[in-house]
Amino acid sequence: MLYLDNSATTKILPEVLEAMMPYLSEYYGNPNSKYYSQALETKKAVDLARHQIAVLLNCSDDEILFTSGSTESNNFVLKGYVDANENLGKHIIISSVEHASILNTAKFLESKGIEVTYLPVDKNGFINANDLIKSIKRETILVSIMWSNNELGSINDIKKISEICHKHNILFHTDATQVIGKIPIDLSDYINIDFLSFSAHKFYGPKGVGGVFIRKDKNGFYPKLTPLLHGGEQEYDLRAGTLAVHQIVGMGKAAEIACRDMESNIKKLYEYENEFIFRMKKVFGNKIIINNNFDNKIPGLISLRILGYNNQLFLKNASSLIAASTGSACSNAKPSYVLKACGYKDEEIRETIRFSLSAYDNYDHFNSIE
Ligand code: PMP
Repeated sequence: MLYLDNSATTKILPEVLEAMMPYLSEYYGNPNSKYYSQALETKKAVDLARHQIAVLLNCSDDEILFTSGSTESNNFVLKGYVDANENLGKHIIISSVEHASILNTAKFLESKGIEVTYLPVDKNGFINANDLIKSIKRETILVSIMWSNNELGSINDIKKISEICHKHNILFHTDATQVIGKIPIDLSDYINIDFLSFSAHKFYGPKGVGGVFIRKDKNGFYPKLTPLLHGGEQEYDLRAGTLAVHQIVGMGKAAEIACRDMESNIKKLYEYENEFIFRMKKVFGNKIIINNNFDNKIPGLISLRILGYNNQLFLKNASSLIAASTGSACSNAKPSYVLKACGYKDEEIRETIRFSLSAYDNYDHFNSIE
C-alpha cells in the first residue's frame, strides 16, 4: 500500500521511537519535581528537546513552549493574545483558507465581540499584500496567516506579510504546521514573526504534541498572553499541565533529524514528485491536471485533478493500493472550503486529490500505479 497522505500525518521514524521509549519506562519522573535523579533526568530530556526545536527554527530555547499540537497552539495564540490585549483594539485579520483551528477560533472570537477580517486568496491560495494593508484598522491587534496552505502547499511570502504587520504595530502569528521540518526556517531572518505554531506528527514525530514559538521583546519579555490552560506554573506560567515527556523527547528528536536530513529530503521529494506525476500521466494521460504552483510550494505535495473521476469514489476504490485524501483530514466531510476560496468550481473540487509524499518511503512501489 502506497501511503501518500503525509500532509495529514507522517509515520514516526524508528530513531524517534527509540529516543522516546526510555521515557515510557525507565525515566518517569515529573520534570517539574526537584531534588532526585528521576526528575532531573526527565528535566534534562525536556530541555534538550526544547533546544533541538530551537536549533531547527534558530530561536532561543525559552521562546519555545510545548503544547498538545497546532490546534492548541493556534487556539492559545488567538484567544490568549486577544483576551490579554483587547483594550488595544478588537479587530484581527486572518485568511479565508486557514486551517479549521484558526477559522473556528476566529468565529468563536467573533461571538465574543471581536471583529474578524477574512482575507481573500488567489488561485494558489496566496493572500495579496495590498488586501492586507487595506484591511488594517486602528483597532487591529493581530494578524494570523498560514505559512503554507495545507491543500495546495503554496508558500506565502511570510517575510513581506509580517513586515507589513510590524510597520503598523500589529503582532503577527503564522500557522507553520505544514512547513516546519520541510523547508528551512531561520527565525533570526524573520524578525517580524511573533508567534508560530507547529505539530510534531507532521514531521515524523509523535501525535498529540507540538508547540508554539513566542518571540520575546528586546527586554526579554513575552507579549501579554492569557493562558488557555490555567493551573500549575509549567511552561513559563503560560501553559499548565505536567509535560508529556516521551512525546516532547520524540518531537525534539524529529526536529534534530529534520535539520540533519532537510537538504536531502527536499531533493528526494522533488524526484519522487516527478516520478509520481510521470506514473499518473502514464495511466491517466491528459486527464491529469496539476493544481499546484511549482514556483513556490512545499516539496512533496501534489494536488491534482483526474478529469471525469469523482475524488471520493476514486480514493475508496483505490484504497487497497493508495492512501491519499481529498483535502484536509480535519474537514473531510464537506467539499474543500480552501479550494472554493481559491476560486475552484465545485466540479473541479470533486475531481481534486491531494497526494503528499514522504522522503523516508521507498518509492519502488510506485510500480503499483498501473
Ligand atoms: N494547521 C494546519 C495547517 C494543519 O494542517 C493542521 C493539521 N491538519 C493543524 C493546524 C492542526 O494540527 P493538529 O491536528 O496536530 O493539532
